[in-house]
Amino acid sequence: MDTTISKLNIEQAKVSKIDQVDFDNLTFGSVFTDHMMVCDYKNGSWETPSIMPYQALMMEPSARVFHYGQAVFEGMKAYKDDNGGVWLFRPDENFNRINASCARLAMPEFPEEYFFESLKALLQLDEAWIKKGYGNSLYIRPFVIASQPSVMASPSEEYKFIIILSPAQSYYGGEVRVKIAEKFSRAADGGFGSAKAAGNYAGQFYPTNLAKSEGFQQVVWTDSNTHEYIEEAGTMNVFVRIGDKLLTCPTSDRILDGVTRKSVIALAEDQGIEVEIRPIKVSELLEGVKDGTLMEMFGSGTAAVINPILGFGYKGERYELPKLQDSYAVRFKDQLMDIQYNKAEDKFGWRYQI
Ligand SMILES: *Cc1c(COP(=O)(O)O)cnc(C)c1O
Repeated sequence: MDTTISKLNIEQAKVSKIDQVDFDNLTFGSVFTDHMMVCDYKNGSWETPSIMPYQALMMEPSARVFHYGQAVFEGMKAYKDDNGGVWLFRPDENFNRINASCARLAMPEFPEEYFFESLKALLQLDEAWIKKGYGNSLYIRPFVIASQPSVMASPSEEYKFIIILSPAQSYYGGEVRVKIAEKFSRAADGGFGSAKAAGNYAGQFYPTNLAKSEGFQQVVWTDSNTHEYIEEAGTMNVFVRIGDKLLTCPTSDRILDGVTRKSVIALAEDQGIEVEIRPIKVSELLEGVKDGTLMEMFGSGTAAVINPILGFGYKGERYELPKLQDSYAVRFKDQLMDIQYNKAEDKFGWRYQI
């Protein structure tokens, strides 16, 4: 094993489960590979990372994560090119973000070399699970949980940093019509909406279920103070095209600073598309529908890359967006995937080879 890390415990699985997996019928996030990485934080430092067979965790029911939700995660993907090369996309961004999320939840930061070296070793061991072919990938889920047994409401002194891997197929998010939030909020000023923290998602399920019962697939959150400005969706940042101009709202302590979002902005600006990063009023969308200048809306995130939004609901009314031949959504999805699968020039230095 070619690793530069001096200490990394590796226990290989005796048998692989890969032959039992139907790679043509994968449900997102439900099948996991043969190995996982676990690293414990105790007595003020991270111990030696261990790669071991994927298995259940043994934790005391008093472990703090179960009571106070001290938990953060990341979502990234590994891609295999036609020659068998394995690539990550801007993994430094995910590494920095999980540490920013940790800091916001009073959790210790994880060392960079532990992250990259253990992730590399894990991907090399489970390489056969990364299937070639446009759209196939291995979804990488790093997460950190508070493991110390204690129900005292204060930060844990023990944690587990874990990485699990799940094979994923070309993910088409399907027809997405969104409900624009009028009452519920995902995050508030001074809160932790910008952290990929477990609790941010738990709080969305109930309002999202209500929206689903009205026939929408997702909620586009609005600012918690006035509900007049759109912010982002469940696990996607939101873009709006008015005329030929591309708009997205600024990041803040309420909004997740998406890697796909910043990549779309970079691509658009590089191609001479006018990009405005500013608060976007719901009323602008309504006016845009009325005068025909609202061309498209789409979400951006690692899972689906770009997910076109076909329509939205607001205050009991439903609005449909035009069906475009040459949409920005399709253009940026193709361009991003070409970079991710090593099919296009990597002008910005985003690819990272395993
Ligand atoms: C993960 C996530 C995104 C998208 O981030 P990417 O880095 O592009 O995957 C956007 N919004 C929320 C709330 C998220 O959790």
